[in-house]
Amino acid sequence: MGLLTGKNALIFGLANDRSIAWGIAQAFAREGANLGFSYAGDMLEKRVRPLAAQLGVNFVEQCDVASDEQIAAVTEKARSHFGEIDILVHSIGFANKDELQGKFYNTSRAGFHLAMDISVYSFVGLAKAFQPLMRRGGAMLTLTYYGSVKVAPNYNMMGVAKAALEASTRYLASDLGEQGVRVNAISAGPVRTLAAMGVSGFREMHKNFVELSPLHENISIEDCGNAAVYLCSDWAAHVTGEIHYVDSGYNIMAAPDPQALKAAKAG
Ligand code: NAD
Repeated sequence: MGLLTGKNALIFGLANDRSIAWGIAQAFAREGANLGFSYAGDMLEKRVRPLAAQLGVNFVEQCDVASDEQIAAVTEKARSHFGEIDILVHSIGFANKDELQGKFYNTSRAGFHLAMDISVYSFVGLAKAFQPLMRRGGAMLTLTYYGSVKVAPNYNMMGVAKAALEASTRYLASDLGEQGVRVNAISAGPVRTLAAMGVSGFREMHKNFVELSPLHENISIEDCGNAAVYLCSDWAAHVTGEIHYVDSGYNIMAAPDPQALKAAKAG
């Protein structure tokens, strides 16, 4: 018996085999979950379908989360395929490249709205649509980053969006508690994915992370998958509204270790 045997899990945000969503999907499959995937649009279909086939997943549906109609459509498809859902994973984020470099005050109004819509509202919209399908004891999960609470150079608009996403996690956890549904977030350290590469200076930040984090190791999508299994399984039955760090301990440091800083500079 796996930790998720008998649970229906729907994962949003699979783009390719580097996606955090893929690490989560593999861990969920290993633990016996019955999986379904939703991806953003036509361009990704040729990457997502072979990954789904690898895990024997046959619910693979498109949904652009900017569209209420598409959210409604995928919800209906999930209802007829699964009946009830135990786990919903939101592993989606987007901001224009322009908003991920330079001064934060240069963020455009349109760019602000877009990042908030795709990266934050989508979690609220999916929670609203799927809550009638969620079985008691179920769990929702989203992905966030430490740039929500501290300034990470160039992360800018996404930092503000992640702060709103973390607050949304707590409000949703409060709302859905009476239905016996838990809502949590994983705050992941830097991982080389499509989304991350859009952040100016990401490569250097990813490299320095090894020196500056207490465990001196980068995190992997497998680490996120294993943490997601815990948060979405009955092992976390009374854990809700939490931001769970999977970051080699980076967030506990008030200042970098001087030796580590020297090593990072020598790089
Ligand atoms: P990724 O590029 O693999 O995943 C991002 C996903 O968002 C993609 O599948 C993309 O198709 C989807 N998406 C974007 N716009 C969409 C839309 N309109 N409708 C539906 N889907 C849409 O990158 P990732 O790093 O795996 O990102 C997953 C989540 O993890 C994001 O929320 C990201 O902010 C978060 N995160 C990433 C890191 C990191 O360093 N990679 C760290 C912490 C948190």
